[in-house]
Amino acid sequence: MVIKMPMCGIVGMIGAKDASREALLALTTLQHRGQDAAGILTLSSEGVHRVRNTGLVESVFNRENMEELVGDLGLGHTRYSTAGRGTLAEVQPMILTFPFGIGMIHNGNIVNSDELAQELKSTRRQLLTHSDTEVLLNLFAQALTTENNEHLSFETFCKAVKTLHEKAIGSYSIAAVIADHGLVAFRDPHGIRPIVWGTKVDATAPGGIAHMVASETVALEFNGYELKRDIAPGELLYIDVDGGVQTKVLIQKQARPCMFEWIYFASPESVIDKIPVYGARINLGKKLAVLIKERMKAQGLEADVVVPVPDTARIAAISLSEELGVPYRELLIKNRYIKRTFILDNQDKRQKAVNMKLSPVKSEFVGKRVILVDDSIVRGTTSKKIIELVRNAGATKVYFVSTCPPIKHPCFYGIDFPNQKELIAYGRTDAEIEKELGADAVIYQDIEGLRESIRDAGEGIAKDFLPCMACLDGKYPTDVSTSQRMIERRATDRKGGQA
Ligand code: SF4
Repeated sequence: MVIKMPMCGIVGMIGAKDASREALLALTTLQHRGQDAAGILTLSSEGVHRVRNTGLVESVFNRENMEELVGDLGLGHTRYSTAGRGTLAEVQPMILTFPFGIGMIHNGNIVNSDELAQELKSTRRQLLTHSDTEVLLNLFAQALTTENNEHLSFETFCKAVKTLHEKAIGSYSIAAVIADHGLVAFRDPHGIRPIVWGTKVDATAPGGIAHMVASETVALEFNGYELKRDIAPGELLYIDVDGGVQTKVLIQKQARPCMFEWIYFASPESVIDKIPVYGARINLGKKLAVLIKERMKAQGLEADVVVPVPDTARIAAISLSEELGVPYRELLIKNRYIKRTFILDNQDKRQKAVNMKLSPVKSEFVGKRVILVDDSIVRGTTSKKIIELVRNAGATKVYFVSTCPPIKHPCFYGIDFPNQKELIAYGRTDAEIEKELGADAVIYQDIEGLRESIRDAGEGIAKDFLPCMACLDGKYPTDVSTSQRMIERRATDRKGGQA
């Protein structure tokens, strides 16, 4: 699928002997969450150390600049930009030197960022970028300052984060380091974006335990941390420089984690909110197979082979093939040296990337009736191209199936499909979508099947588990009345960024 994600990967740690090396490893495992830029910040008795730049993790860091990153308190970020203009100044971690020396990283999107920026300006805080992270950082610092404490306590952090929860609308998983104090991490009251917390024994750490927070469990595991738990929606975690740990849920609202994490974003080995991503994708394939069977029976359709659109759809395609009793074959070969197309920032670039990215195994497609499995259909650009590719390779029928139900509404929480008119499922019937894509059939997962697939992959998950599915059903977990201004600003930012 082709969507532009504002996803980011975040990692924060305290107590680790070699924080920057661990951050580097973590960012490498989180690279799929953002490929525009990367940065690591550490704090030591010598001060603040930061390396950041645009590009992939492997291109931003080298032996020399890693040596600058000393200290056992750190943050790492890999970025995909939605808010802002994509300038170096917007690359995270961001820093404020006064009044306390704060570094911050953020994954998510603030719907009312413009309004909050105006509010900050009215208090003479000058913002340097169009990034919503800078807005959050300043809000946080301002809330800490009003406490007027020389030494910040857990209660002070609680008050500051609660103020932020009350003012900021949208999705945010955040980690911040505060000089001479420690690490704080918190999650928006609906827990839309993920953040996990892990620990490991480290004799050099205060209290003998090092802590890491990260977007996904895969980052913890790579660094030898054991998952302690997810940070709960609305919760604050504070680990001080002496190894003391305090947590508090500051605002309790219904948990609404983004369903797209399980469908597409997250790494398959990760576990989010106690639900394994791999298991959810297996379930998605099984549920979708039931719907395919019904449709095939009703219309007398037959298939010879199940083919995944690489990479994300592979797992669901395997269980789908097993359920249908139709052989699974990987017949679209991906050129691994081309970046994921959603990362490219305009339609023309995406189109060219699609043309270059997949090669069909023609000998296997000739004369076959093919079920092509993808994780989702957003604009339809890629799907159309792939269907054409498969037909040109000799397939006699192409049935395109999606593990995600039709995407009909914009996302204001970080995924870059805010323009509803660009969505292929918006205002079109199934028959019109089939015609538009050039498929013999298009079969989507249904909303209940999606919800159950995710829920049932975890143990002991509440029956009424309800992820955010607003882009499917239009039921947004937060107020989105200021979203129009956000969309307009983004359009302006893009023009500015491209100029
Ligand atoms: S609107 Fe869709 S993509 Fe956005 S957070 Fe909700 S489920 Fe995720």
